[in-house]
Amino acid sequence: MSSATPRFVDYHCHLDLYPDYANQFLACTEKRIATLAVTTTPRAWPRNRELAASSPFVRVGLGFHPQLVAERSSEFHLFEKYFSESRFIGEVGLDASPQHYRSYSEQKKTFEQILKLCAGQGGKILSVHSVRATRDVLGLIERLRPLDSSRVVLHWFGGTKAEAQLAANLGCYFSVNAEMLTKDARRALVGTLPLNRILTETDGPFTNTLNQPSKPADVPRVITMLQSVFGMEEEELRKQVLANLDALESESNI
Ligand code: MN
Repeated sequence: MSSATPRFVDYHCHLDLYPDYANQFLACTEKRIATLAVTTTPRAWPRNRELAASSPFVRVGLGFHPQLVAERSSEFHLFEKYFSESRFIGEVGLDASPQHYRSYSEQKKTFEQILKLCAGQGGKILSVHSVRATRDVLGLIERLRPLDSSRVVLHWFGGTKAEAQLAANLGCYFSVNAEMLTKDARRALVGTLPLNRILTETDGPFTNTLNQPSKPADVPRVITMLQSVFGMEEEELRKQVLANLDALESESNI
């Protein structure tokens, strides 16, 4: 097996938000964890890309986090500026939770613009946030058709079983983290997702592992937790997730 072959996948992690962020980029390579380093503002893109240049296991997403859309609207021109340079787009999406609902119409406007850019250029892979907004996120994806030429990974999916079915039918992937698997109802829902669309993530540093902010090195725990969800052996699941990563990234290379 080549040394460039990953062992695990962390398809949604905020590497630039750790105090020792440069070490986190290095750790992904050392531990062979294929990582999608999402960003929350387009301003963060150049520095992240620079850090990832020497980290063959890290992809960087050009992001505009829905929770920051209102206060950072002046940065949208940077998003447009860097857009053609980035194959990965995220973190983007919608957040209708009470503390962010005030900016919801602006969030929708921005997310629509982003989806239109993706549909126009194609070949993108998006990591999408959809807190209390699954229906709207899927509605926009259906209407603006980024999936004709790009791929969408729903990060931390929190919708209903019917919405999960719709997302799967549309062709979405799902990146699953450990916190999604702590409640029985959520675990059961994850078990209904198509196995060939499952990726793993930590969403570090916004989740904890053993009372510390999760980091990519903690992602094997998600595989361990998925065993009982899918009734599969750990090793078999690990390989399945790597195969899914491969399929996703070769599919979207169009
Ligand atoms: Mn996130």
